[in-house]
Amino acid sequence: MLKDLFIGLSQNQFLNSAAKKYGLKLGAQSVVAGTNIEEVMKSIKELNAYGISCTVDNLGEFVYKKEEATEAKENILNVIEAIHNNQVDAHISLKPTQLGLDIEYDFCLNNLKEIVDKASRYGIFVNFDMEDHGHLDPSFKILDELSVEYDNVGTVIQAYFHRAEEDIQKYQNYRLRIVKGAYKEPAELAYQEKKAIDENFIRLIEWHLLNGKFTSIATHDHHIINKVKEFVKVNNIPNDKYEFQMLYGFRRELQLQLASEGYNFCTYVPFGKDWYGYFMRRLAERPQNLNLVAKQVFNKKTNTVIGVAAGAFLLGRLTKKKRK
Ligand SMILES: Cc1cc2nc3c(=O)[nH]c(=O)nc-3n(C[C@H](O)[C@H](O)[C@H](O)COP(=O)(O)OP(=O)(O)OC[C@H]3O[C@@H](n4cnc5c(N)ncnc54)[C@H](O)[C@@H]3O)c2cc1C
Repeated sequence: MLKDLFIGLSQNQFLNSAAKKYGLKLGAQSVVAGTNIEEVMKSIKELNAYGISCTVDNLGEFVYKKEEATEAKENILNVIEAIHNNQVDAHISLKPTQLGLDIEYDFCLNNLKEIVDKASRYGIFVNFDMEDHGHLDPSFKILDELSVEYDNVGTVIQAYFHRAEEDIQKYQNYRLRIVKGAYKEPAELAYQEKKAIDENFIRLIEWHLLNGKFTSIATHDHHIINKVKEFVKVNNIPNDKYEFQMLYGFRRELQLQLASEGYNFCTYVPFGKDWYGYFMRRLAERPQNLNLVAKQVFNKKTNTVIGVAAGAFLLGRLTKKKRK
């Protein structure tokens, strides 16, 4: 129920616009590395110092106007420039909808081409995050079109989708990030039970480790991580064929531990004013993340999950009324 609540809140455009005006709030500052390039570069340098590489996401959601998509493109081009100028170990993660996929396919393709082209000149990789099911096919299509000219692009396979096995085989020659999946999807398209998702997740990871180009195993789940550690050992998978990935601010000790054990490790570092939707999806994934909010809202005194959930729920209801 909490999951549905926060996924619903993540899609609330009124709250999303309001959040942009007020800067990082509600505990989001623990999981979002600032609102500008200087702040994110500082975080990346700190992580690089531990031998951790980064994938940088200049956050963006609900882009339905060409001006906004163009602004997002300019921002990402600036991030690429900053990665190059600061000589940090980092690449780009982006969402096709941020660059106009919901506006016009060719417009989005051209925006992405400009980004991938600039990144390619600096030897920087660009990963297309995968969003909900309606955006899968056009995102893969853009990837196909760009890969004719560029080899610095890759994407994500979401293990909750029934189609994931077919997609991973089709895109095995790309650098792929494999995740469980973060959006609410219907039962006819996606597994709903944790057990089925986890089983498919591990199956896809193992298949891609054996057959694919490069695998990013993106999870905070230590059960999965331990299985992968065992699998790569038994199957002699070389270190340069895979990495572990986690989100900025989550399981920091485990991130440092994996890097210190000699595994390639990459932290997904989100930043920017458009933090709201990203933050709500993190709350949907793991209600314990509400502690991040509770600590801020109740100043550690009345740190209660139910209180925050109720507050968020009422806020959502109130906003719905306002929009009617
Ligand atoms: C780097 C990265 C990139 C991603 N990109 C995408 C994308 O492009 N598209 C998309 O749909 N989704 C993406 N996701 C989100 C992903 O799909 C999952 O929703 C998200 O990672 C939660 O699943 P999980 O595998 O981390 O573990 P969960 O299934 O949430 O948790 C499993 C178990 O792991 C342990 N655990 C998890 N989190 C913690 C924690 N914070 N502290 C302690 N223990 C913990 C607990 O024991 C828990 O029961 C991405 C995730 C990461 C890490």
